[in-house]
This record gives sequence, structure tokens and C-alpha cells, in this order.
Amino acid sequence: MAPNAGLIHEESSPGPPRHDLRRHVRGQTPDAADWDGVLSKLARMATSDQLREWRACPRCGTGLEHGEGTVSCPSCGLEEYANPAPTASALVRDGDRLLLARRAGEPGKGLWDLVGGFMDEGEEPLETLRRELREETGCEVEVGEFLGGLPDRYGDDGIWTINFYWEATLRGEPQPGDDVAELAWFPREELPPRDEFAFANTIVLLERAGARFLEPAG
Ligand SMILES: [Zn+2]
Repeated sequence: MAPNAGLIHEESSPGPPRHDLRRHVRGQTPDAADWDGVLSKLARMATSDQLREWRACPRCGTGLEHGEGTVSCPSCGLEEYANPAPTASALVRDGDRLLLARRAGEPGKGLWDLVGGFMDEGEEPLETLRRELREETGCEVEVGEFLGGLPDRYGDDGIWTINFYWEATLRGEPQPGDDVAELAWFPREELPPRDEFAFANTIVLLERAGARFLEPAG
């Protein structure tokens, strides 16, 4: 079966742009232990890169004091912590097929992702999941088993995220909506090559779910 056999919709796609995350995922074996290694490697990169570069308080302009993953302002009391931003996403199944979304925006524009997104303030995780799937696929969702949470970064220099996943099935036929250039079903054993995915944590999640990836072209 061709990788695009499950194509639902495609806007003009110039082919996936190359993403620096490829250096982490290229040449890795499907062994889950290696993928945990990739996450450890990411985790050793500083959590507070952005805060470290902050010099002046964004509220009052006073010089900031730097701590471990935190900055504080001695004048107005502002405190900022390097906490990850939570997301809720779905491993959407239809029999032995999995649903992937091609990203319409950066980071990872043109690369594959699972459907889901960032939690809004005050939102419960499953509300996020249902809202995001409605926005991205036009479908209501039956939520299944919780699959766990994985850390990652939102692009190579992006903020840290913590990504929570649930199994899910859709009611109805998905149509690409917000943030999605294309939705496609893939056989679980024939997902696109790893270097066509936007985020390492997605690959780890899919590896743990028993998915298999095609070899990179060329
Ligand atoms: Zn201040």
C-alpha cells in the first residue's frame, strides 16, 4: 500500500521542509530503548534557555536575578519559572490504520504530527483533546486508554512541552481544519519515515504503540 493511499485532502505541498530534529532521529533503530535515549538527550539540553537570556524585568525594567530554571525581579517581585507547556493529543485508530496530520505552520511545517494541541488555561485535558480534534478534524471523538506523557521541545529552540496522549476513535470522516494542511490514514506498519515527523516525542509514542516506519527515501 502506498504511503498516501489513505490521503483525505491535500493542499499544494512542496514536500516536507527539513527540520533539524532529523539529526536526533536519523539512523535510530525502532528499538524503544534508543528512543528513550533520544528523549534523555533532549532532556539534558537546558530547561531554562530562554530565561537565562533574560536580562531586564519585562514589567519594570529592573535587572533580573537568575536562579535554577527561574528568574525573579528584586524590584516588583515578578517571578518566572521554566515550566513545560502541556498538550493533549490522540492516537486515532480506525482498525489497523492510524491518523496523521501534516502541519500547516511552524515549527515543523509540512511534517507529520498526531492531532491535538496546547491546553488553554483552566481547561481539563480531555476538554483540550475534544476541542482540538473538533478544530483539526471536524469530528467528535470517543476517547480510549491514556497512553502517557512525553517531554519534548516545540521546535529546536522552542519552549519545553509535556505531551499527553490518549487512544481515540472518530465519529465521522475527518476533514482537515485549523493548523492542518492534510490528514491521512496510514497502515500501522507503514508510517512515513521518521525524519518526516515534526517531533521526537511523537515517534517515541508511535514506537511504543507498535507502529513501524518506512525507510527514508534516498
Ligand atoms: Zn520588575
